[in-house]
Amino acid sequence: MLSPSLAPSALPASWYQCQGAARSYTSAYGSYAADVCVIGGGIMGLSVALALAKTRSVVLLEAHQIGAGASGRNGGQILPGFALPEEDLVAKLGAYTAQKAWCMTRSSQQALQRLALEHNILYQPGVLVAAPDKTGLASLKKRAKFWQDVGQEVHLLEAHDTHSITKAQGYMGGLLDPGSGSLDPYALMQAMAFEAQAAGVQIFEDSAVLHAQHGKITGVGFEVLAPEVVWAVNTHLKHWKPSKTQKAHTFMMAMPASCPEDLPTMAVYDTGFGMHYFRAQGDHLVFGSGTSPVLVPKVLQKAWLYASVRRRMPAFKPQTASRLWSGPLDVTSDLLPILGKDHHRLQRTWWAEGFCGHGMALAHCAGSAVAEAVLGKEDAFSFLSRLSSHTAPSLCKAAWLRLGHKAFG
Ligand SMILES: Cc1cc2nc3c(=O)[nH]c(=O)nc-3n(C[C@H](O)[C@H](O)[C@H](O)COP(=O)(O)OP(=O)(O)OC[C@H]3O[C@@H](n4cnc5c(N)ncnc54)[C@H](O)[C@@H]3O)c2cc1C
Repeated sequence: MLSPSLAPSALPASWYQCQGAARSYTSAYGSYAADVCVIGGGIMGLSVALALAKTRSVVLLEAHQIGAGASGRNGGQILPGFALPEEDLVAKLGAYTAQKAWCMTRSSQQALQRLALEHNILYQPGVLVAAPDKTGLASLKKRAKFWQDVGQEVHLLEAHDTHSITKAQGYMGGLLDPGSGSLDPYALMQAMAFEAQAAGVQIFEDSAVLHAQHGKITGVGFEVLAPEVVWAVNTHLKHWKPSKTQKAHTFMMAMPASCPEDLPTMAVYDTGFGMHYFRAQGDHLVFGSGTSPVLVPKVLQKAWLYASVRRRMPAFKPQTASRLWSGPLDVTSDLLPILGKDHHRLQRTWWAEGFCGHGMALAHCAGSAVAEAVLGKEDAFSFLSRLSSHTAPSLCKAAWLRLGHKAFG
């Protein structure tokens, strides 16, 4: 059970949050009743709320602001699949299960793309995974085979074409996925909250939940009576129940481009070590680092990212970063998410965690499965909850670092 001191503390604003105005929602005050109480206003919570809004009364409680967590500060790449590379997914789950799970996330990815389009959110199509070495190239070939097996368009590129897209040096080839893309994730969260509220969801910000038991969900100055409770709180879940995930941090930087020709034409993932992805967002370059089990001091984060930029993009003239920010991730030892439920007479509780830094489409997919389960159809929920072997993370910190890098590779 959470005590007040364990309410999540606010994270410093991401660069996206500083770009545009956000709609604000009032704090919860007094007593409310609903069929479902969703805790957490990130992509997982908003996906659940949106999916249930038509048939159930829903209250959504967010400790800070909508999208203030990982969902509003991430790389903005909307990708299918899992943090686990496709060839490892097949090795772990077998071809049939791996393909079925992957295709579920592809559907969620497409749903998010449609949402972005409907809300006029600038969406940059295409994601290129670029390999700086032979190991990376070999992995791309295996991934391409998986994509072809599930009937998805994908293109293996030579070094020259990879360079034209990335504007970066040292890549031996790439894998172009035209069906994926990137956007401002904070704008997407705002759009989802707007749509959820329009569909009847009661959204409250600055409303941290401190207790949830016997169908009574409480925080300072409010209570919600609801028989169904959905925890969509990402790394904070471990304050509520024993968790099989490890908390990690990743950091990002936004830097103005000196000339537009320096900007890549789509999001680029690097299978090597160091900078894990970069892309244009407006007239800025956005960079994402690897993952660390501890919060790295800002000065080191900056040095790391600057060095990576210089190595790959010598033509790009590094400007002073507009903003450097970080965010939390929950990582599982097998890089697969954990979905769970806990049913008591007065309260049915559902949760999902462990998206391992690959969570936009995946958290939406998990959220949709939870919503269906709340409505009595548990097929997707049961299927997804059986994917992870739920082993405790006994790996040492260095191994978590390596896994984190893999997660973004
Ligand atoms: C820097 C970074 C870059 C990333 N890049 C990508 C990417 O490019 N593509 C991708 O697919 N994934 C990416 N990810 C991962 C992705 O952002 C996450 O997996 C996903 O956003 C998780 O969504 P969520 O809704 O579970 O969690 P969150 O977005 O963290 O939402 C949880 C919410 O719960 C709230 N909360 C917590 N406790 C309480 C409480 N007691 N009461 C009320 N509210 C509470 C929090 O304030 C928070 O807003 C990245 C993550 C980070 C950190």
